[in-house]
Amino acid sequence: MEKLILFVDDSPTMRSSVSFCLRNAGYRVTEAEDGQDGLVKLQSIKDEGESVALIITDINMPKMDGIAFILKVKETDSKFVPILVLTTEAEKSMIEKGRAAGASGWLLKPFQSEQLLWAVKKVVWPK
Ligand SMILES: [Mg+2]
Repeated sequence: MEKLILFVDDSPTMRSSVSFCLRNAGYRVTEAEDGQDGLVKLQSIKDEGESVALIITDINMPKMDGIAFILKVKETDSKFVPILVLTTEAEKSMIEKGRAAGASGWLLKPFQSEQLLWAVKKVVWPK
């Protein structure tokens, strides 16, 4: 079965364009609209006996931002799932925060399909 990616972003436009790009490349995608929703989706994927190969998350989101979300994921048994950040945040201190929280990579919006897929392939291990 194709690898499952959890994509977390509060912008519906981003969710549909990134999901389209990933699905086109053969991945399955579950979308979440903020960090809180991301944790719920992560749990329900687990409850279905599935596992997420990769998480891609935005930083600026209502309810729970990307940094808080990453820190929460690292407290669960999904802590070894690689996490890519996809954001408009280019501030060095924010990138350092992401790295310290446990992000595996940092990509800037607007995203380029090829660049995104390259980063995804780099952190998603073959079976
Ligand atoms: Mg956002």
